[in-house]
Amino acid sequence: MARLMRGAPVAKALVEEVAGRASALASAGVVPKLAVVRVGAREADLSYERGIEKRCAACGIELEHVLLGDRCTSAELVSAIERVGEDATVHGCLLMRPLPEGLDEAAACAAIAPEKDVDCATAASLLGVFEGRAVGFPPCTAEAVMQVLRHYGVALAGADACVVGRSLVIGRPVSMMLMGADATVTTCHSRTRDLAAHCRAADVVVVAAGHAGIFDASCAAPGQVVVDVGINWDEEAGRLVGDVDFGAVEPVVGAITPVPGGVGAVTTACLAMHVVEAAERSVGR
Ligand code: NAP
Repeated sequence: MARLMRGAPVAKALVEEVAGRASALASAGVVPKLAVVRVGAREADLSYERGIEKRCAACGIELEHVLLGDRCTSAELVSAIERVGEDATVHGCLLMRPLPEGLDEAAACAAIAPEKDVDCATAASLLGVFEGRAVGFPPCTAEAVMQVLRHYGVALAGADACVVGRSLVIGRPVSMMLMGADATVTTCHSRTRDLAAHCRAADVVVVAAGHAGIFDASCAAPGQVVVDVGINWDEEAGRLVGDVDFGAVEPVVGAITPVPGGVGAVTTACLAMHVVEAAERSVGR
């Protein structure tokens, strides 16, 4: 039976650490603050925002909601984001994406002040991830993957890691971060010839393809660590499932994250961590 790497203990430990750092900052007169910029009121955004609200409250982070109507223009959105950038009391800026159709997402992302970019929306943050420098921040989900591996003591230096997916929000940044942790990384995608062979050969696999069950028993190897980032709705079962066929893979591998209750449970804690780190950087800590 595989070791179950649940997200909740990871998030709990992160929240404790982040709350301590936020409290130290507050004692020095700096209250970490996150601005969430939202256009319209889609349920997915509202639900994510509720999760952020709870997490920030637990960490001692102030939250400011910057709300724009469905009919706002790209110029109005850019101005609102620029105002957040100019506000010295705000340390982090999160733009709810994807934006409603018709808005210029690239322009909106580019308007975020790089030092406040807590979810890797800007080119500066991406460059920081690729160069391994503390410029901006990696995407919160990519960070969550790394925090799960760290919390459960997964050795990465010298390990063979396989990442399934090459998107800019998960696959590529996770590949870079694993490489930064001295793993030897293979990044697979939809044109990879033999996905199962690459996966089987790895000590650590991160699956972020957005296809339920793409990582099945043929991809799994004994002792392997499997992190499932996928979130898919299974119509038949009427529940969320990951990209890993949990029932078939869990008996084979050494450790595995569940879905739900795995990586997804750690994302807002990583966001909180980024906000506090941005506040620390703003005062040269
Ligand atoms: P995405 O932009 O659609 O990228 C999917 C990647 O998977 C692409 O690089 C694609 O390859 C690759 N892929 C697709 N089919 C494949 C196949 N048969 N074999 C190998 N690779 C394949 O998705 P994403 O935004 O990265 O998200 C990935 C998953 O993570 C989704 O299920 C999403 O819902 C989930 N997610 C989870 C969280 C969380 O907090 N847990 C947060 C965000 C997203 P190509 O580049 O060749 O097309």
